[in-house]
Amino acid sequence: MQLTQRAKQVERKPMTLLEKIYLWNIAKGMLITIRHLFKRKATIKYPEETRSFSKVFRGVQILNRDEEGRERCTACGLCAVACPAEAITMEAAERQPGEEHLYREEKYAAKYEINMLRCIFCGYCEEACPKDAIYLTQTFAPANYGRQGFIYKKEDLLIPDPKEDPEGYQKALGEKSSKA
Ligand code: SF4
Ligand code: SF4
Repeated sequence: MQLTQRAKQVERKPMTLLEKIYLWNIAKGMLITIRHLFKRKATIKYPEETRSFSKVFRGVQILNRDEEGRERCTACGLCAVACPAEAITMEAAERQPGEEHLYREEKYAAKYEINMLRCIFCGYCEEACPKDAIYLTQTFAPANYGRQGFIYKKEDLLIPDPKEDPEGYQKALGEKSSKA
């Protein structure tokens, strides 16, 4: 029984001599290949070449520091609550006397992780953060062979110290430099 009237009987015509020797079809295929040699290439030689991104491109996150190199994140958890993909996890810790040069406030993130396989780069974490502690940068998460490699830990996310590596700090901050 036919469910629709769209079924069509395919005719199986006997092949002509030209079709039997395949040369014409091979020549047609080669012509298509040659035509593409002169067309503008759709691909680039990554990583030697990179594409320029839009100004509003949202890439992999960084955890920011202040101008004195102290971690800005206070492990308040607002980014994790705002994250629709539930990609962020963290553990808070109390700043100890003598650690004032490391952490800006009394509380800091002892552990901070983002699962890049979950992240949809929506930017809600950046918007939710009251401390300017997390930014989405202009770079994307590099390829990896294992799932574990996509769990970005605090060490992977933390921006270089502006006092020790000002160049690396500015580079990591990219377009956000004016906001720092
Ligand atoms: S960019 Fe969006 S999905 Fe990714 S960690 Fe931030 S809030 Fe979650
Ligand atoms: S990154 Fe911002 S919002 Fe997220 S825990 Fe740290 S201070 Fe709070």
